[in-house]
Amino acid sequence: MSRRSKLTRAEKKAALMQRVEALVDQMLDWAEANVRPNLTQIEDQALTLRQRFGQVLTDSVIAGQDNVEPLHLPPCPQCGKPMRPKGTKRKTVLARVGELNLERSHFYCPRCERGLFPPG
Ligand SMILES: [Zn+2]
Repeated sequence: MSRRSKLTRAEKKAALMQRVEALVDQMLDWAEANVRPNLTQIEDQALTLRQRFGQVLTDSVIAGQDNVEPLHLPPCPQCGKPMRPKGTKRKTVLARVGELNLERSHFYCPRCERGLFPPG
């Protein structure tokens, strides 16, 4: 049912490095655009990027979890039959690393005509 196969560690690393590299480029772009920033300005920029780095790392691990691409279909909370996958939805969660825009699987029970959008 998975619409994409599991990524290898090398593939995960390559995707992660690309996102981290974009943050490094942002810092370099900022440093070039701001000729003589003071320490507070440099810190502000570094802290903003540090937060994004935390989000990128967190997001990359969550994206590989089974609740994003479940191995088993969850049972319907009402009738207990396995639910059908109904694609994914994006959900914004406020975590300690900041806002995360998570992709979550959505399920549907045709018998009870109810959907399930697992929390967390
Ligand atoms: Zn049901």
